[in-house]
Amino acid sequence: MYHDTSENLPSGMNVTPEKLKKQIRYLLGKGYIFLKISDLLNFDRKEKHVVLTFDDGFVGNYTHLFDILKRYNVPATIYLTPKIKDIKMLNAKQIKEMQNSGLVEFGAHTMTHVNLKKVNNKIAQKEIVESKKAVEKLTGVNCQAFAYPYGRYNDEHVEMVKDAGFSTAVTTKKAINSFSFSNAYTLPRLSIDGRINMLQFYLILSRGRYKI
Ligand SMILES: [Zn+2]
Repeated sequence: MYHDTSENLPSGMNVTPEKLKKQIRYLLGKGYIFLKISDLLNFDRKEKHVVLTFDDGFVGNYTHLFDILKRYNVPATIYLTPKIKDIKMLNAKQIKEMQNSGLVEFGAHTMTHVNLKKVNNKIAQKEIVESKKAVEKLTGVNCQAFAYPYGRYNDEHVEMVKDAGFSTAVTTKKAINSFSFSNAYTLPRLSIDGRINMLQFYLILSRGRYKI
């Protein structure tokens, strides 16, 4: 799980292009096969797979990440928040170009980046359903993937995501976990802080965390 990709200071929300390239080269060298999140629905269990996800829809995903994906020919999944405030977001043209490249799957991450647990069910459902439609309008294709903002959700939200027609949903629960249809709507992810070094990256991949 990543967020922004830019030359800004590395942080929990930003990874520099240089470091991301190193991490991708490492994964390629170890024989990982890169998938988009919805490819998990029909993957070959014998292979080692990795899905790169980027939450919120930062413009850096176009200005930096997209070049990297093209250079290494690896796909990624970006979860858009069409009405998020306070971040510099991808625009419609950039989203379309990335969609048409075949390298990017766009998922939905609610309309306003709302904490679903802090609003009533009616608002939660509206945020979920409308974000699917909004992303489909931007990409021109079916939006199958959802990400819970802040990783916050309850059982009712899981049902809402299923009912809305999504095929998968990701959380921020940290775990290395094989995909199965029983956890398709509560998939864990490994958070990659932009400040970690390659040893820590290796530890996260092998144990799910880097603190010993
Ligand atoms: Zn988010």
